[in-house]
Amino acid sequence: MAIEKQPSCDDVFEPELLPVSVAVERMAAQIYPVTDVVTLPIREALGRVVAGSIVSPIDVPAYTNSAMDGFAICSEDLPASGEKTLQVLGTAWAGRPLEVDVKPGQAVRIMTGGMMPDGTDTVVIQEHVALLGQDAIRIDGSTSVGKNVRQAGEDITSGESIINDGTLIDPAHIGLMASLGIDQVSVYRKVKVAFFSTGDELRPLESHAGRTLGPGELFDSNRHTLYSMLERLGVETIDLGVVADTPEATREALKTGASQADLIISSGGVSAGQADFVSSTLAELGEVTFWKLAMRPGRPLACGKVGNAHFFGLPGNPVAVMVAFYEFVQPSIKRMQGCAQLSAPRFPARCESKLRKSPGRVEYQRGIYEIDTDGVTVVRSTGKQGAGRLSSMCLANCLIVIAAEKDGVEPGDIVEIQPFHGLV
Ligand code: AMP
Ligand code: MG
Repeated sequence: MAIEKQPSCDDVFEPELLPVSVAVERMAAQIYPVTDVVTLPIREALGRVVAGSIVSPIDVPAYTNSAMDGFAICSEDLPASGEKTLQVLGTAWAGRPLEVDVKPGQAVRIMTGGMMPDGTDTVVIQEHVALLGQDAIRIDGSTSVGKNVRQAGEDITSGESIINDGTLIDPAHIGLMASLGIDQVSVYRKVKVAFFSTGDELRPLESHAGRTLGPGELFDSNRHTLYSMLERLGVETIDLGVVADTPEATREALKTGASQADLIISSGGVSAGQADFVSSTLAELGEVTFWKLAMRPGRPLACGKVGNAHFFGLPGNPVAVMVAFYEFVQPSIKRMQGCAQLSAPRFPARCESKLRKSPGRVEYQRGIYEIDTDGVTVVRSTGKQGAGRLSSMCLANCLIVIAAEKDGVEPGDIVEIQPFHGLV
């Protein structure tokens, strides 16, 4: 009798697979930002998300000043033709204004950042001036009215909203706040994420680093990859260790996670194997939102809730863990963090490799992109794309995202790339 085959990873097209775009939408509809806010000194707020918008308490610049080293003059002294001689009253330094009232026919030597003396509105740069001893200069009419002057409030006006709610704070924001005299900032509280690995074959580094592995055993790497990706996102991590492939152990881990964290992430045990208890335990304790996605790697991916905690059950394969994290977990965490920008940007690039693929699922292949000598963004494959090859992730600096309907990529085709770092 012929074997009646069930849907599997081998199938080109499985109708019950959920398209990635639908999964992303469903996820976004379920996940809300944390509401608690903490106030921190600005230096401690690097990498945190601004809660509420930040309003400038002052004008920037706070006073009208010179953008160049030169001479502050009254613009009516700019001759329509020929040259004009002006008397120099003294020097205005940055931080040391010259308290004078400048009249037509007079000028003040001024340094960059120096406050414009009363009566002046234009700076003639020193390179365009003829010095007549210490006390006089000659200028021509080539400088336009108001040139080389930064007006008070030109960059920012007092009361203006300068950093929006949901902004991820980077060094520029810290500098901007400092420039406005702001030393404390309200940010959303850290998201708490509990994570664990499942698998009876796994040996934790904590007890087995440097030891010989028994037959069929392997070191648990996913927990360390997950920890690192989470650290980079600035969440509070709760490491629940390696969990045995039993319903009891899985139940225990999910309950512990739900009692401590906003989000629980597991790796492994989400396929349809005899030792895969994540999805069934999730269904028993909470709700499953979806668990089979039209993507590769990362097809079995459970998503749901246990109590108030969101849950992502990632596949066990180390590359699939990273891809599923970048595509689903990271945007979800960013949403929970209150971040306005959720997904990583993608760019077109010319592919230099032939990429094999069957239609039916979005593929995330590992790529190395660079700008070639003609200034064109090009990308090549890291080579074999096995879902267990973490070394391919180490070589790669981006994912090459190939749409579900595509049946491969030829050299010269334009593909979409998603750089791993640096942009979000
Ligand atoms: P699973 O999804 O549990 O069937 O696991 C799929 C594959 O990923 C198996 O070859 C596992 O041995 C491997 N794997 C699962 N969890 C881990 C882990 N934490 N670290 C390294 N490899 C893992
Ligand atoms: Mg397993």
